[in-house]
Amino acid sequence: MSLLQVNSFAAGTWIAPDANARDIENAVTGETMARAGNSSLDVEAMLDHARTVGGPNLRKLTFHDRARMLKALASHLNDNKQALYDLSFATGATQSDHLIDIDGGIGTMFVFASKGRREMPDNQVYLDGDIEQLGRTGTFLGQHICTPLQGVAVHINAFNFPVWGMLEKLAPTILAGVPAIVKPATATSYVTELAVRLMLDSGILPEGALQLVSGGLGYMLDRLTLQDVVSFTGSAQTALKLRSAPHILKHSIRFTAEQDSLNASILGPDAVAGTPEFELFIKEVQREMTTKAGQKCTAVRRIIAPQNQVDAVIAALSERLSKTVIGDPSDPATRMGALVSNSQKRDVLEKAAIIGTEAEQVYGNDDFTDHKGAFLSPMLFHCAAPDTAVRVHDTEAFGPVSTVMGYRDIDHAIALVNKGQGSLVASVITHDPNVAREVALGAGAFHGRLYFNNRDSMKESTGHGSPLPHMVHGGPGRAGGGEELGGVRGVMHYMQRTAVQGSPDILAAIGDTWVDGALEKTALAHPFTRTFNQVEIGETINTDPRVVTMEDIEHFANFTGDTFYAHMDEAAAKRNPFFPGRVAHGYLLLSFAAGMFVEPNEGPVLANTGLDNLRFMKPVQAGDSIQVRLTVKKKTPRNEEYGEVRWHVTLSNQDTEKVAEYELLTMNAY
Ligand code: NAP
Repeated sequence: MSLLQVNSFAAGTWIAPDANARDIENAVTGETMARAGNSSLDVEAMLDHARTVGGPNLRKLTFHDRARMLKALASHLNDNKQALYDLSFATGATQSDHLIDIDGGIGTMFVFASKGRREMPDNQVYLDGDIEQLGRTGTFLGQHICTPLQGVAVHINAFNFPVWGMLEKLAPTILAGVPAIVKPATATSYVTELAVRLMLDSGILPEGALQLVSGGLGYMLDRLTLQDVVSFTGSAQTALKLRSAPHILKHSIRFTAEQDSLNASILGPDAVAGTPEFELFIKEVQREMTTKAGQKCTAVRRIIAPQNQVDAVIAALSERLSKTVIGDPSDPATRMGALVSNSQKRDVLEKAAIIGTEAEQVYGNDDFTDHKGAFLSPMLFHCAAPDTAVRVHDTEAFGPVSTVMGYRDIDHAIALVNKGQGSLVASVITHDPNVAREVALGAGAFHGRLYFNNRDSMKESTGHGSPLPHMVHGGPGRAGGGEELGGVRGVMHYMQRTAVQGSPDILAAIGDTWVDGALEKTALAHPFTRTFNQVEIGETINTDPRVVTMEDIEHFANFTGDTFYAHMDEAAAKRNPFFPGRVAHGYLLLSFAAGMFVEPNEGPVLANTGLDNLRFMKPVQAGDSIQVRLTVKKKTPRNEEYGEVRWHVTLSNQDTEKVAEYELLTMNAY
């Protein structure tokens, strides 16, 4: 059978492997099935293409344009995923593994597409946080902004998730406006190549936005600049080698590392055998050990149980593991497929032997010793002296291997879980909120994610091992010290945060968002009569004043039932440190304000969808008057029919003192 030729995509051209290409093994048969790598790949031309073609093409789009592109790409991959499934079986992965890698990757892209539209502006500048007033009167302000890096993101991925591993990095990179060069691990690069080919063939991405290196990167990392970023996923050993290269250090080139880690799961002291939590714990641990044949960076490597539950855990887990059907990953009955290659299998067995010097093997068999494919039985160890053990806490056998250890009390469990010296995730199965709080305080600093589960959350829980696009993924120390995902936080890895300082007009122009003190444009007509497209940032109306009377206050109190003493009882209100006497309800002022600025006739304003940042700054008493200033602060398209207008609203009294301030959100027709 002819071998699959895994190509690279460099500067707009597909490049086939050359004579120096590496062979790739079929995990199931052990036979060579593909070749990847081209030693004469012109890496400088690739970098140049990304920087001079891909970057400018992406940067001229807004976050919303790029988010729409991600959605289209995700939909396209979704429509064509069967081809990815079919090919992926050769990596040893089962259909349920594909759901994590392929569907999980596509789902991650959809989430970034949606977050890009909902949480980022239809603009090229992202505002990070609020305006800071730096001078006394507000003529000199500060604002943090984020703009895309003007270089290229080099993504180096691990073999275990050829699709998710690429898409979880690509989605935030593209959303940021930065082109990517993707370098998958060679062992499973043929799956990534197909996913890249599907995306490129769709024609959705602009030229230069995505390139692919199948095989080695050559000297690419030595040609990076301060505008580039390396996002690495793989072993601690490779990360150390790459991130400590003098060129990377000398030029402070961003390097995000997602490494291996010795993740743990704690069985809570309350979760003894017979409770729903105990059963849940056994299920989760077994799933973590066997999904992707244990080749998951987040897999449970250490199982930490109350000392008196250790035997029960070993018995229940062994029973479940013995029922796990191992075999041909394309057979629907199979629950665990093969490791990615025989060399990976050898590596796992070597690491398991190291763990075996400090722990006794309590489950595992040699059913697959003579099999040509990279199949391996799950292996469970028991470490009786986890306090003095070293290797069980630092040896990652990247396969279906895990070690049970007992703890005396929750402080001891925390000490053990932290012995991994930094992990991606630790889980705690407990129904006791106090246990959860103690672990969060004692272990939070050592782990990128803490996952708590029990009878209340188990139906909807997403699994110890699943990094979610909404939540950060990464961890301190051994886990690499990096962070990815986490919604918009993940996009920031590909942007530069800059503190900008200047006058209100300067900041309003940079952020395309009105700020207090910036130029107010007199509205030509009532802004509620103008469509989303017509209304301009800074457009302002100032209403006539309205006097607030005691009758108004009493009427509002009786009508709404809000007869709180500050509005109704002069003596009691005076005793309160905030009020000079009876005062108007804040909600009355808001209602009056709406009555003062609203344009009542049917028009382009479709609905009021909320208020943000409401502050009552000064009490209003009977006899005071209020006046409203309404200014268009920001506009964000929402769908085909309407967009959101954010209005800045200020209520002032007869002495021009601010009494209330808020942002009003309306949906306006285009
Ligand atoms: P690896 O051997 O460290 O390789 C990772 C990547 O680095 C591969 O793409 C590899 O390419 C590349 N690489 C190796 N040497 C390189 C060099 N000198 N220059 C440029 N690139 C180089 O890891 P792996 O075996 O693929 O993956 C398994 C490990 O990844 C496990 O330890 C696992 O815990 C970790 N992992 C971590 C996460 C996470 O999110 N934290 C996720 C998945 C996996 P080649 O394949 O071509 O050598």
